[in-house]
Amino acid sequence: MPKLLVVAVLGLTSLALAQQQDFSKVQIKVTKVSGNIYMLQGAGGNIAASVGEDGIVIVDDEFAPLADKIATALKDIGVTDKPVRFVINTHYHGDHTGGNLPFGNKGSTIIAQDNVRKRLESGSKGGNGGAMVFEQKPEQKAALPIITFDHDVTVHLNGEDIRALHYPAGHTDGDAIIFFPKANVVHMGDDYVRYGFPFIDVTAGGSVQGMIAACEGAIAQLPADVKVIPGHGELSNVDEVREYIRMLKETSAAVQNELNAGKGLDQIKKDKVLAPWEKQYASKSLTTDLFIETLYNSLTNQKNAPFVKHN
Ligand SMILES: [Zn+2]
Repeated sequence: MPKLLVVAVLGLTSLALAQQQDFSKVQIKVTKVSGNIYMLQGAGGNIAASVGEDGIVIVDDEFAPLADKIATALKDIGVTDKPVRFVINTHYHGDHTGGNLPFGNKGSTIIAQDNVRKRLESGSKGGNGGAMVFEQKPEQKAALPIITFDHDVTVHLNGEDIRALHYPAGHTDGDAIIFFPKANVVHMGDDYVRYGFPFIDVTAGGSVQGMIAACEGAIAQLPADVKVIPGHGELSNVDEVREYIRMLKETSAAVQNELNAGKGLDQIKKDKVLAPWEKQYASKSLTTDLFIETLYNSLTNQKNAPFVKHN
């Protein structure tokens, strides 16, 4: 796994990352997805952009030091000289919101689910409820979402009804999946990623059950040929999302079986219950044992799982 993803997965703050990573080498790759929707990839989470005569809306904004490059790449698409009017954050993590400050300072209006603003404003602890732990510092005022929503919000621009829909307790407690119905594109945020076993921020209210529900809920209302922008990784499709959901369900069930048999976390790791998925999904930063721990903490947080005590 490239270093970038390691850092992204561990969710280090943009500041911490800026100190250890040389952003001067990062180039922004622009991919036309469909209609007037583009995908931008540099470092951190993928960006979706609606670029049209009314201006620009972006979904997520990577890291602060990349803001100028992102703005230039958007301009170079050649459709408009108008600025980024709106930034929609899919969740609070610094590799998706790090550019909020520079874009906010330049006049972009930042939109996010209520819990994203709370976590950005106060700072937030994150992690998988076990060995993965990080802390994200409070953000300056200009980096905070100005418009927040509980369930959903729609931005009507460039002839598109861009809809952000909240799915609770998935990757975090403030996730939004963003739909571009006219162009037939969806940005899944980090509820769907392509770097292997996903990071689930159990500490910030995430859960594997919510992640599964988010992915299933999203694809249930999408055409089979929708273009899927994952939180991280290359452009994708519904079939690949279904395969990911299957992996999440099967690995959860494998850990749940062990829980039902009264086994503890250490024993579940020793039993290597996720061995069948290891080759395809384990990475350096999200090892099989870390994912077992993530699932364990996620599943034992359930209200209807009184047979296991949470450690
Ligand atoms: Zn994330």
